[in-house]
Amino acid sequence: LYYEIADIGLIGLAVMGQNLILNMNDHGFTVCAYNRTVEKVDQFLANEAKGTNIIGARSIQDLCSKLKTPRKIMLLVKAGQAVDDFIAQIIPFLEKGDIIIDGGNSHFPDSIRRVKELEAKGFLFVGAGVSGGEEGARYGPSLMPGGSPAAWPHIQPIFQAIAAKTSSGEACCDWVGEGGSGHYVKMVHNGIEYGDMQIICEAYQLLKDVVGLNHDEMSEVFNQWNQGELDSFLIEITRDILKFKDEDGKPLVEKIRDTAGQKGTGKWTAISALDLDERVAASKILQGPDAKFSGDKAAMIEDIRQAMYAAKIISYAQGFMELREAARRRLELELRRYRPHVERRMHYPRFLGDITNAFKSNPSLQNLLLDPFFTQVIHRCVPSFRRVVSQSVLLGVPVPAFSTALSFYDGYRSARVPANLLQAQRDYFGAHTYQLESAGEKGEWIHTNWTGRG
Ligand code: NAP
Repeated sequence: LYYEIADIGLIGLAVMGQNLILNMNDHGFTVCAYNRTVEKVDQFLANEAKGTNIIGARSIQDLCSKLKTPRKIMLLVKAGQAVDDFIAQIIPFLEKGDIIIDGGNSHFPDSIRRVKELEAKGFLFVGAGVSGGEEGARYGPSLMPGGSPAAWPHIQPIFQAIAAKTSSGEACCDWVGEGGSGHYVKMVHNGIEYGDMQIICEAYQLLKDVVGLNHDEMSEVFNQWNQGELDSFLIEITRDILKFKDEDGKPLVEKIRDTAGQKGTGKWTAISALDLDERVAASKILQGPDAKFSGDKAAMIEDIRQAMYAAKIISYAQGFMELREAARRRLELELRRYRPHVERRMHYPRFLGDITNAFKSNPSLQNLLLDPFFTQVIHRCVPSFRRVVSQSVLLGVPVPAFSTALSFYDGYRSARVPANLLQAQRDYFGAHTYQLESAGEKGEWIHTNWTGRG
């Protein structure tokens, strides 16, 4: 009864897997579910999947026998060894042309290796970045598939049906390219997202410690920001977090231990990586400025808003530069698209629309900052940005994301940076040689005897 009826098999019944299965079911696909701990299959079928067309499997062989060919099997399990273990278990039951998809947060070199290993055996492999968390998985994730190109026509209908849709109805999912490019784009995407989160954290600290707002006032500021050019999912949830009160009526956010958690897909090193106990001890010894902010509070809040917008544009520009560089070097990654539909529905509606327009009107755009719209925005925001960073420095408030973004901007717009001295130093101590400006890029590499000693 159950032979070859399911459109796709999905392994891994934790949060992501369960929600993706329910999403696929909503779009009319028959899914066969499997999990290492098989009891979870029964639990899922009896509860969350009750009344749906979802079916279950009790072994890998069982799963493979229930799938239409070419088989499509998607893994949503812990990244790393678990993926390789499952691939090894599935292979004996596959036929040529069958497709394994890894939707976990795998490191892209692993995906490059898996494509090669599976293609050598006549199978196809797709490493797909999945973004949007639990809610995205259930109602519309952004999907970034890459790997064996021959797999795309087979998975495209399912992937584009379940993906989030932009306001113009376009699926937030397209074929990214070969090799590990799907997981590479997901990695850069995570980096951009962590940058956004850190920028918001710095703005919160400035509003609290410099401007002196209370939590309801800060929440209202974020509420206002969410109505304008900063409007985004992260600004919206920050608004709600800041006004959220614990049972004793105090803001819950202040009771949370200030050490940033991370699952290894991204690292924000500057401050959160510093050990909490060490910081508490150092705060009793190392002194900061006594100065207090004495300026116009409303003007400072507007400066912070513009600083955030500028920092965000620079952070995205860096992410796209990383993608472009990766594509240029190929790195076995065929990153054909930099279009920013790598976010879930309504995440950054306006901002992502502006980025899309920039790349649509000039597909070979060198850098987001050079698009006329963003150049004009950056020019408008940078004076505020400079005031915020200099105030923070004077008052001793650490703003690593703001200040590095501003330094990056100032470096990017500098025709000459002091690396000439660096080259001279390297040549001095290590005879590493240098090129003369006058000789051009293809000029001769020369060495100077800097000490005059033979
Ligand atoms: P998870 O907690 O990362 O993984 C749990 C699943 O992995 C369970 O099905 C578990 O099976 C299986 N598993 C763990 N170790 C295993 C092993 N050694 N061998 C076989 N199976 C093993 O689940 P998740 O949060 O749903 O995430 C799934 C993947 O999506 C991960 O790669 C994650 O990084 C990625 N992802 C997560 C999010 C998110 O918001 N959570 C967003 C995007 C991407 P048992 O039930 O038998 O233990």
